[in-house]
Amino acid sequence: MNKKETMELLVEDGVIIANTHVVLKSKDHSNFYFDKDMASSRSFHLFQLAEILAQQIVQKVNNGVDVVASPAYGAISLGALVAYWLERFLDKPILFVAAEKAESSAFRIRPRLAVKLSGKRVVVVEDVTTTGGSTKRAMDEVVNHGGIVVCLAVLCNRGNVDAEFFGVPWLFSVFSKEDLEIFSPQRWAASECPLCRGGTAINTEVGHGKEFLASENNLTNNKNQG
Ligand SMILES: [Zn+2]
Repeated sequence: MNKKETMELLVEDGVIIANTHVVLKSKDHSNFYFDKDMASSRSFHLFQLAEILAQQIVQKVNNGVDVVASPAYGAISLGALVAYWLERFLDKPILFVAAEKAESSAFRIRPRLAVKLSGKRVVVVEDVTTTGGSTKRAMDEVVNHGGIVVCLAVLCNRGNVDAEFFGVPWLFSVFSKEDLEIFSPQRWAASECPLCRGGTAINTEVGHGKEFLASENNLTNNKNQG
């Protein structure tokens, strides 16, 4: 499967939403949305994407991997499938462990699984990296239990983070920020949004469009009353 075909899968599954009009968390408006929650919605596609990551890992790391670890919750299904492919390619048992969200944004691996990390070579699988902060905290939890993180594998690296940032030899991804450029993603401050000016309806199914419209209505009502 080439990159164009894998992109088409993500468009089909509603992970990539192009030519839209959304309100982002930052309150900026955009013509593009990446809905990572949808990536797990079609197991058959996720299975194919996991195979791509596992191939990249095996090409560089060869046999040097024992465990896959993924932070909750979005990356768990992807990580488990990468573990499946690694076991098939390497013909040896590959363990999968999930790191769940704990207090104060840290991650926690349950004790029975955590003890299995000691001295083991671990691939950390993540769905999306942007600033990389959350991924780094998941890596910390692996290291705290004696795991050796040999590489990082992500579905989409949307940020400007690289292997060096994470302190690992390799950062593999199915898509990078550059790959998404074919959708010409743009963002604007709400007051400068050309889509608003042109009267394009706001997408209220994803992002923060609903809240934006509600606050706009409040403003209009207040003006009318005043
Ligand atoms: Zn707008």
